[in-house]
Amino acid sequence: MIQLTNVSKIYQNGAKALVNVNLKIGKGDFVFLVGPSGAGKSTLIKLLYRDETPTRGQVQINSKNLVRMKEREVPYLRRSIGVIFQDFKLLPNKTVFENVAFALEVIGVAKSEVQVRTRASLELVGLAAKENSFPHELSGGEQQRVCVARAIINNPALLVADEPTGNLDPDTAWEIMDLLYNINKRGTTVVMATHARAIVNKMQKRVIAIEDGRVARDEEQGGYGYDA
Ligand code: ADP
Ligand code: ADP
Repeated sequence: MIQLTNVSKIYQNGAKALVNVNLKIGKGDFVFLVGPSGAGKSTLIKLLYRDETPTRGQVQINSKNLVRMKEREVPYLRRSIGVIFQDFKLLPNKTVFENVAFALEVIGVAKSEVQVRTRASLELVGLAAKENSFPHELSGGEQQRVCVARAIINNPALLVADEPTGNLDPDTAWEIMDLLYNINKRGTTVVMATHARAIVNKMQKRVIAIEDGRVARDEEQGGYGYDA
């Protein structure tokens, strides 16, 4: 489903974020990206939803070439990819319902369908009762649940998450992991960059370690592998 071929990313300032990365990720896989800060994990994630393009090499998702993709095609790609961030990125002046519904409204889904699908998505993450709350009225875990609801509302083939539990306490982090686990069970491919050692060690999923922009380790049922 995802294929990176000889991918290098060098930023304008000369930072070599990724160096000759080759990777294949299958449909329905659950993959943890681990590695030290600055190793290139976020950059790799950004290549997957075409927030960045590689300096060299190819990025393919479902045999679509993201490097050659035209700007006007990018919104269509983004509809098939859900994205979750460490710092939530919810719209502060919109309610929970509006934050999730927004993803459908911008693509012109009919109002009645927006209602039904937004409620269903909030139901799935256990936040139906808070649809009229504003983000600042929610706990961190609840805010991240809203982000998960927003990310999956288009039933994406791929969910990418950059340290989604980074701002959460361990119990709340596990609640979010439960959601991602179940979303993956329903067939969505999940790629998650993380420093959450306990979570990686417990879940026994594929682990790809990035160090200095290179794939340092790739294990089918891996562990976190770093001390801190
Ligand atoms: P993380 O380790 O969680 O990826 P970083 O502090 O490395 O966090 O990066 C935070 C944000 O700043 C990211 O969006 C990243 O792309 C950007 N960033 C990181 N390093 C630089 C840099 N040298 N110049 C500009 N932006 C950067
Ligand atoms: P990680 O997510 O593993 O912390 P990043 O992908 O954020 O790593 O960063 C990899 C390298 O690229 C780091 O040296 C970082 O400073 C640099 N970098 C990341 N984003 C940018 C950016 N927008 N501009 C310049 N350098 C960046």
